[in-house]
Amino acid sequence: MTDSTIQSFDLKRNYDRVRDEISVAIQRVLDSQSFILGAEVQSFESDIQRYLEVDTAIGCASGSDALLLALMALGIGKGDEVITTPFSFFATVSCITRLGAIPVFADVDEGDYNLRPEQIEEKITPKTKAILPVHLFGQMCRLEEAMPRLRERGIAVVEDCAQSFAAHRVVDGVLHRSGAWGDIGCFSFFPTKNLGGYGDGGMLTTNDAQIAHRLKSLRVHGSSQTYFHEEVGLNSRLDALQAAILAVRLRHIEEWTEERRAIAARYALLFGEKGLLDRVRVPLDARGNRHTYHQYAACFEKRDELKKYLDSKNIVTRVYYPLCLHQQPCFSYLGGKEGDCPVAEKLTGEILALPMYPELSEEEQMCVVGAIADFYAAN
Ligand SMILES: *Cc1c(COP(=O)(O)O)cnc(C)c1O
Repeated sequence: MTDSTIQSFDLKRNYDRVRDEISVAIQRVLDSQSFILGAEVQSFESDIQRYLEVDTAIGCASGSDALLLALMALGIGKGDEVITTPFSFFATVSCITRLGAIPVFADVDEGDYNLRPEQIEEKITPKTKAILPVHLFGQMCRLEEAMPRLRERGIAVVEDCAQSFAAHRVVDGVLHRSGAWGDIGCFSFFPTKNLGGYGDGGMLTTNDAQIAHRLKSLRVHGSSQTYFHEEVGLNSRLDALQAAILAVRLRHIEEWTEERRAIAARYALLFGEKGLLDRVRVPLDARGNRHTYHQYAACFEKRDELKKYLDSKNIVTRVYYPLCLHQQPCFSYLGGKEGDCPVAEKLTGEILALPMYPELSEEEQMCVVGAIADFYAAN
């Protein structure tokens, strides 16, 4: 049976476009028999520095580790407060609690799903050490409003850029790249991310030389000279094979990002043509933002029934995220409860991510939107 399923992402189609280049890169690493850090990783770190226009890029083992290392480098620990979003992937918050610090949840905006600037300011206390905004689904958080106050108070900004590689935001004519706006940027190269490797991987970016020095030590057991340890760090390195693969994929990221944006624009157009904009709230592409559409996450009436219907038509959709982080059982000791972040909680019942990847065809998109129109015609 040939599979007519429309997947939410399809890594094989993407691999077919770069297969030959990837083979050359992998063979080069195998021939070198140098696998840990070394020239391949350094070269990829330089590529990232150039691309993001940052002083330092530091490879590590995953996006989750990047977040943990960032907070460690800032000296965040027991009793410190970190303001963050309840509407994100788990790793955004586990890095905080792992260090004994306290996540303080601020509510999000219904339009861009990101932390609301005025909510950030409201949550600042004398214990606030950092804020950890997430640029969710590929769209940057509006940080400019809170930034002056944060700077003034010496509160660090750690950007979770796991979903926002290549995103930027223009404010008053100044372009801020995801990962180059705050004090530290944290990236994930998990295979399904916009810049994905073929395994786990992560990256930290910073313009602060002292933080860079500390991060480089923390990723190799807290040692800047082999076998001498200033502190207890992690073993968290980007390996040479992933670096070589990612360097190839980075060369295509602009093209793939534009393809994602074109697909998003076409979804919005198709929903309009079908007269569905009263039942579907398409994602906001905020002015000045380059949304990179890691996910095409829209809000739908009767979301759960719609998802079931699409499942029955072999159209794969996903719910990011079905439960807010302040309501997760493992964080119940923090006392979070329903009603703390009403906007985020409401989104968990409405949001649905449609198929989105650079190779998604126009026919497939028409099929997805056609099925949604059929569902609403009957419901
Ligand atoms: C994927 C993701 C992470 C974690 O990245 P890993 O590389 O899987 O550890 C962190 N934050 C967000 C928002 C993510 O989407």
